[in-house]
Amino acid sequence: MPVYDYVCQSCTNRVGIQQSYADYGVKPVKCPVCGSKALKRLINKVRIAKSEDRRMDDMADPAFMGDVDENDPKSMARAMRKMGSEMGEDLPPEFGEITDRLEAGEDPESIEQSMPELGDAGGGGGMGGMGGMGAGGAGDDDY
Ligand SMILES: [Zn+2]
Repeated sequence: MPVYDYVCQSCTNRVGIQQSYADYGVKPVKCPVCGSKALKRLINKVRIAKSEDRRMDDMADPAFMGDVDENDPKSMARAMRKMGSEMGEDLPPEFGEITDRLEAGEDPESIEQSMPELGDAGGGGGMGGMGGMGAGGAGDDDY
């Protein structure tokens, strides 16, 4: 389960709170230190941007994706979650949806087709690349 960083506006502690993707943004969070609900989400865009290249390298490492079976949506969902926690935070909303659908056993191809914006990674975020990896991956030469 990913840990989301919050700053408590009541006691000013910085706290990490574990939430599932399903809970994040839905379930109210509470400061574990003082119990206040005045938590502000910390988004470390800078850190992600700076280390993105290295992180992408890590993900390309066969060891990182070693246990992924492309024919097993659940296995891919696990990899997505792992990747999600590696990326840290601030993932696009599609990420959780795709993971949920994979876990539900949905065919990655059909997920990608239903989300055409994921198909062509124009650039920018890592999500485009991940979408490509998800369903297509090395499969481009299947055609
Ligand atoms: Zn607090």
